[in-house]
Amino acid sequence: MMNREKYSRQILFPPIGADGQQKLSQSKALILGCGALGTAQANALARAGVGTLRIVDRDFVEESNLQRQILFDEADARERLPKAVAAARKLRQMNSEIEVEGVVEDVDNRNIEKLVSGCEVILDATDNFEARYLLNDAAVKLALPWIYGAAVASYGMTMTILPGSTACLACLFPSPPEGAQETCDTAGVISPAVSWVAAIQVTEALKILLGRSQDLHGSLLAYDIWKNHLQEVRPHRNPDCRVCGAKEFVHLSRAAPAHTSLCGRDSVQIHAATPRQLDLGELKSRLERFGRVRANEFLLIFSVDCYELTIFPDGRAIVKGTHDPAVARSLYARYVGA
Ligand SMILES: [Zn+2]
Repeated sequence: MMNREKYSRQILFPPIGADGQQKLSQSKALILGCGALGTAQANALARAGVGTLRIVDRDFVEESNLQRQILFDEADARERLPKAVAAARKLRQMNSEIEVEGVVEDVDNRNIEKLVSGCEVILDATDNFEARYLLNDAAVKLALPWIYGAAVASYGMTMTILPGSTACLACLFPSPPEGAQETCDTAGVISPAVSWVAAIQVTEALKILLGRSQDLHGSLLAYDIWKNHLQEVRPHRNPDCRVCGAKEFVHLSRAAPAHTSLCGRDSVQIHAATPRQLDLGELKSRLERFGRVRANEFLLIFSVDCYELTIFPDGRAIVKGTHDPAVARSLYARYVGA
């Protein structure tokens, strides 16, 4: 039974009310990415009493995250907990009435349809265009609303996409922006810029979950919180859009790359060629002969020479200390196995 006292101030707000609160308690939202945006979104949605939150992230907590990733603390960074695991723990302490699913996976064309299934709204908290195009394909294909969001430096941007009625991401940007993009790792980011984007995304998500799509802002919003400069444009659907017009989902059919350079982080992510199930205990005793090994129940960290390999049970690894995929792949082959 829902605890009414917990949500009393929100129930007093007429667009929500007691019926709306009940509706939220039976809703399910997906948060894709659990960095700065994802932790802010999850914090707000958990406190608002959204019944089920599924949080997906591929990464682990590091000290440089703590300035803006509001669900994590120094102990999480010391233990190198996967972000999805650390976030789920905090959210359960915050609100024991809701279900939280923390999923430690890299989103790709093989798992995205499974990850979005059963969710009524998807909040974008990814950090790259590739993931957003993949998400846009899946959301349009399955007719699921999703809320784009991005923040870098003091600047943030957001748009709500209702497949079939609003413009989709590919209507606005048919292909990814050319050239190197500024990211949080190159241009930095201040936490209030993230909070602004997350606040708009969460508000839009609540409207969608409450069935109040007439209240959505309907714009591409961009705000520089340092300069106090707000831009708002009304995007139009592109009748020739490859995705929401022609229903060509190229990102869904494209196989995941064998490796990804993690921008600005001096790291390369290696994907296992085929899904596998590693025995981390066995791997630990094997690798201890070659270097320093630390492990928790979710991952293993292996330091050798000037490199550090973080290895997940599904065979995925993040190799720190190089930008060069060839170096990362060769380390992976040598120590984890091809
Ligand atoms: Zn479109």
